[in-house]
Amino acid sequence: MPKTIGIIGAGLGGLVLSRILHLNGIEAIAFEAESSPRARPQGGLLDIHEHNGQQALMAAGLYQDFLALVRPAEDAKRIVDKDGTVLLDIPGSPLSRRPEVDRGELRAMLLNSLPAYAIRWGHKAVSIETLSNDRHEVAFENGNTFKADLLVGADGAWSAVRPLMTDAQPVYSGTCFIEIAYSAGGRDAARLAAMIGTGTLMAIAPGKSIIAHRNADGSISGYAALNQAEAWFRAIDFSNTRRVRDLMSVQFEGWSQPLVDLILMSTLDHPALRPIFFLPAGHEWRRKPGLTLLGDAAHLMSPFAGEGANLAMYDGAELAGALVAHPDDMEIALTRYERQMFARAGSLAKISAQNLALFFGDAAPQSAVGLFKGL
Ligand SMILES: Cc1cc2nc3c(=O)[nH]c(=O)nc-3n(C[C@H](O)[C@H](O)[C@H](O)COP(=O)(O)OP(=O)(O)OC[C@H]3O[C@@H](n4cnc5c(N)ncnc54)[C@H](O)[C@@H]3O)c2cc1C
Repeated sequence: MPKTIGIIGAGLGGLVLSRILHLNGIEAIAFEAESSPRARPQGGLLDIHEHNGQQALMAAGLYQDFLALVRPAEDAKRIVDKDGTVLLDIPGSPLSRRPEVDRGELRAMLLNSLPAYAIRWGHKAVSIETLSNDRHEVAFENGNTFKADLLVGADGAWSAVRPLMTDAQPVYSGTCFIEIAYSAGGRDAARLAAMIGTGTLMAIAPGKSIIAHRNADGSISGYAALNQAEAWFRAIDFSNTRRVRDLMSVQFEGWSQPLVDLILMSTLDHPALRPIFFLPAGHEWRRKPGLTLLGDAAHLMSPFAGEGANLAMYDGAELAGALVAHPDDMEIALTRYERQMFARAGSLAKISAQNLALFFGDAAPQSAVGLFKGL
């Protein structure tokens, strides 16, 4: 077993890895750039899939805790066109195969399952040096350093570990998301809620979409999504609320007024921009001793297969399982883990790219309706 294991990133993938290693008595330290668990809101809901995300939580011994977080019937999906005409209405089910949970609550559950010393907050990895004996030394922004026999990059889309493994760079998909949020109890909450239904509303036209989810507490979260060039959003000052509102009015001109209201009534005070990037589907690297990657760091893909968080947790569970199964030969464990990870991520990345085209292409919204009917 490697003597020191460092995990860069305490997202869902890194935390599942850490949890299962600790359950098996294997010490690992996760280094997280954010200053604390509450440093930023963790975003909206995730549907956790039976074949990967739920398996990972079972391996982590947290399946019952996960079930307690599930939001029954919030998996409902409604698709409308830009006029607001309902094209598909899938009711929520109390016990879905893909139940929805709040990402922040899921992360908190994983954090609470670990001893406090297992996570070092405020540790942003800024450089990594390869030492003799295939060890690596990480330097953090705060001046600290750490030497690891095994270093795992679980640090998401812009991984600091990935460049040691591969030259692959994330590519902009052409679609960017702008977060929207509406507080519980607001003046128009009932009207907006009736339009959304009990789960997620997707209003879709070629190259544009409004995605909104009604949360159990009555608040609404979601995105305005646009096909736009990278230069377009880089030129916008997203701290200028009025400008962002004006832009949204122009971009969604001609859409039914209640749908436009959904964006304009939302909090756009600090609109978070989420451009969608991906790594080439099926990209792989040659084994590098003492290093590996998981989750978005390994196989960033667009969110349109809803698999990224599920895969990250599954990778974490599989990597931990391989290390536990091969305590005396880390390289065999990592080779086995990576071979299987490449295969499962490659096929899902292709589906994810196809789904992005179905969602935003010229055949939308009918192509998106077909996609959801097939699920
Ligand atoms: C708009 C949007 C919607 C999505 N919806 C879904 C969905 O419905 N279902 C789904 O399964 N997936 C979804 N995804 C994808 C999902 O969010 C990711 O695939 C998932 O979070 C990946 O988990 P991870 O642990 O690999 O990385 P992350 O969750 O990105 O965690 C990485 C962690 O590393 C930390 N970090 C980064 N750099 C450093 C550094 N240099 N040093 C130290 N720490 C660092 C970060 O702060 C972060 O905490 C969505 C993504 C987006 C953008």
